[in-house]
Amino acid sequence: MNTSPAMSTFDEVNVFFDRAADRLGMADGVREMLRSPWRELRVTVPVRMDNGEIEVFTGYRIQHNGARGPYKGGVRFHPDADVEEVRALASLMTWKTALVEIPFGGAKGGVQCDPLTMSNGELNRLTRRYTQNIEHLLGVNRDIPAPDLGTNAQTMAWMMDAYGQIHGHTPGIVTGKPVELGGSVGRDSATGRGAIYVTTEMAKDMNMDPAGARIVVQGFGQVGSWAARIAAEQGCTVIAVSDVDGGTFNSQGLDVEALVKLKDEGGSVQNFKGGESISNNDLLELDCDILIPAAIDRVIHADNAPRVKAKVIIEAANHPLTPEADDILNDRGIRIVPDILVNAGGVIVSYFEWTQNLYQHTWDMDRVNDELSKIMTRAFTSVKDRVQAEGVTYREAAFLIGLERVAHVAELRGFI
Ligand code: GLU
Repeated sequence: MNTSPAMSTFDEVNVFFDRAADRLGMADGVREMLRSPWRELRVTVPVRMDNGEIEVFTGYRIQHNGARGPYKGGVRFHPDADVEEVRALASLMTWKTALVEIPFGGAKGGVQCDPLTMSNGELNRLTRRYTQNIEHLLGVNRDIPAPDLGTNAQTMAWMMDAYGQIHGHTPGIVTGKPVELGGSVGRDSATGRGAIYVTTEMAKDMNMDPAGARIVVQGFGQVGSWAARIAAEQGCTVIAVSDVDGGTFNSQGLDVEALVKLKDEGGSVQNFKGGESISNNDLLELDCDILIPAAIDRVIHADNAPRVKAKVIIEAANHPLTPEADDILNDRGIRIVPDILVNAGGVIVSYFEWTQNLYQHTWDMDRVNDELSKIMTRAFTSVKDRVQAEGVTYREAAFLIGLERVAHVAELRGFI
């Protein structure tokens, strides 16, 4: 939701980038190089729709920075996936992979379309044509896509198949695939699991009993539904959740497993019998301990930030807060844990999946969750230490660490 259209999503991410670059005293040239996407591809994606007509979509693959390793990042199918949004998300991937120290750069892809109105056949054709148009940029050591908003394991299976038709069987070309095709166990729940890992660590830090915490989750898709499930499993009280149509609220706590069942059956959470229906806007302003935006970007902005009542915001979505909202909430003493730390679980398990594919090996669930937790702990601790050492916010600390690492590697490689 864009309430400050003067600024693109990419400009907004660069507000956070510039604050860190200023603090590091980064030279103008280095700053310009690190901020700019390395390579941008725009493609035309014509699709024969089920009604026989041809519809023409626009797609992108933006490789933001590859200093630390092959480009890595999801592909988004969404009406708002324009060049500025994809650029912003690609840049966030650069800082995210650096912050959690996995050997990748940052990229993002997108097709401007509304997958909710498209049939499986239409989506299959769209995915194949998009993949054919960007395949010359991809490679297991060049650029590895994954799911994001509006895409899923099925989309990755189609991408892998389309790539394989040109290059031969290449499971490591995408992550987030179905397990039967070389996907990793635990990849589907990884982002939500990582987010709840961060939530419980923050709760402990704030002397809040995670088991008693009242949690609100905006978004009940791949990330939000797992976050809500794992939070409930750990004894937290999930008092509200929502999907695109609206939300449901119960101050005594919702039965999350029943909500998952309702969603699996094709229902909307706003019709859930075990809660009152609530709008997405009201949900963000509920009285709660922990608010987890897990849907789209810029849902908290200058207009609603003064009314947010949570004590801590856990950014499971990418870029859910505008810089103005970030300032307002910081001034109000609300803690914000940034996207590049909170939602890194997805790309971390993507890294495990890619590794398993390269070695033609499979890990079990315990190993995946164990290694995930180790990397999340390391990243969380590094951010927390920086917050304490420098008196900066969690977001500033996360960006400082990410920027330093990318700048250092760029220097080692000799291109600055
Ligand atoms: N789309 C996810 C993200 O924004 C995952 C990317 C990946 O696994 O490469 O972090």
